[in-house]
Amino acid sequence: MEGSLKPMDAEQLREYGHRMVDFIADYYKSIESFPVLSQVKPGYLTELLPESAPNDPECLQDIFDDILQKIIPGITHWQSPDYFAYFPSNSSTAGFLGEMLSAGLNIVGFSWVTSPAATELEVIVLDWLAKMLKLPNQFLSTGKGGGVIQGTASEAILVVLLAARDKILRKVGKKSLEKLVVYASDQTHSALQKACQIAGIFPENLRVLKTDLTSNYALSLEVVSEAISSDLSAGLIPFFICATVGTTSSAAVDPISELGKLAKAFNMWFHIDAAYAGSACICPEYRHYIDGVEEADSFGMNAHKWFLTNFDCSVLWVQDRSDLIQSLSTNPEYLKNKASQENAVVDFKDWQIPLGRRFRSLKLWLVLRLYGVANLQSYIRNHIRLAEQFEQLITSDSRFEVVAPRTFSLVCFRLIPPPNDQDNGYKLNHGLLDAVNSSGKIFLSHTVLSGNFILRFAVGAPLTEDRHIKTAWQVLREQATTLLKAY
Ligand code: PLP
Repeated sequence: MEGSLKPMDAEQLREYGHRMVDFIADYYKSIESFPVLSQVKPGYLTELLPESAPNDPECLQDIFDDILQKIIPGITHWQSPDYFAYFPSNSSTAGFLGEMLSAGLNIVGFSWVTSPAATELEVIVLDWLAKMLKLPNQFLSTGKGGGVIQGTASEAILVVLLAARDKILRKVGKKSLEKLVVYASDQTHSALQKACQIAGIFPENLRVLKTDLTSNYALSLEVVSEAISSDLSAGLIPFFICATVGTTSSAAVDPISELGKLAKAFNMWFHIDAAYAGSACICPEYRHYIDGVEEADSFGMNAHKWFLTNFDCSVLWVQDRSDLIQSLSTNPEYLKNKASQENAVVDFKDWQIPLGRRFRSLKLWLVLRLYGVANLQSYIRNHIRLAEQFEQLITSDSRFEVVAPRTFSLVCFRLIPPPNDQDNGYKLNHGLLDAVNSSGKIFLSHTVLSGNFILRFAVGAPLTEDRHIKTAWQVLREQATTLLKAY
């Protein structure tokens, strides 16, 4: 049937599209029936799928059957209401529709001219969100700054680190790369380390400063100041501080205002990574966690974590967009166009690593419009209330302890080991984590704090309700009883 392929047939799209949406809606209806954490063994899929692609077309129904029988068992159900691992990665009807629209239009919006609406909607929606977060005016597109959607927080950190590196090197000379020093805490996400590796920061010049329970795992201003002074005396050049609002292990909050002032005093770039907890700051009662953001050169949060926007959508604002553009812009002949040449437009290709970019602002636009600010605030508050409930359940059982203050919707806890325990509860708590996760009923992840193995209970899946918290607690309690009996 040579030449008969119709890869985009509107009527077929309509029919298949309806069937796919039905399939996904049914998935959500039955999501609680699956083990939250996939229980398959490595390589399981190779045994189930053919060795090469089909030569002739297959029918959609066969593909649906395979999805159910072969793919779904290998899915860890991030959208399950019983999912409490890592941080959430929200889906929603609005986010899904935005994603669908973006896939349907499938434009590539690297320059304004390649789809003016893609650039302009992104600028507008990021200004809306900046206003919801009460970011200072400097971060708005109407000033020198502006927002841009990156794929992930890791990309956001990388682009601002590159901008900061180049800014300081323009001042001190390119040969000083080996002297540039970056400051963060031992709780900062490993994305910073990766960004340093890519940006050519010498590995010995990444200061991973120690935190502990006395500061609730937040970076101490004194420790950073001392490190900066000692580096300056050694002839090094401090140039970048990365603070976190809502660290990955325990949702700790670094002292933003103080660190920002310190960075300014030493002419350093100050980045705030609020990948998870930034969403909470749309609520007036949590906004104070980013007080001092006016001192920051850049601020990022993941709308794809706890803001109902399907992955991927990481939002980054900068106070001065020219810093990004100076580092990341290129101007090859084949991309030249009148609007760009006249400097009349934003070309987001110059604010990011790749050239091509998706129409991701549609997702955020739909989320903001279909839900509205008030509902989004209630959504966040409800998860924090559920986390409080879980925290109370933990504290009500003397076998358990909460090991770090709960600030947002993350509870860090562990089973208290018996006094004669050789490894201070490592095996016990690892055993508890393995037992609850292999039950398939709930999914939690872990971290290490002050040398102890800790379980993390992160509330934030869109379908989680009070009853799921109660079930999770029941599963944990039962498994703890079994484990402690054998101890
Ligand atoms: N920063 C923080 C505080 C995080 O918690 C995470 C991921 O959980 C990241 C950065 C990295 O996020 P991404 O996967 O978007 O790069």
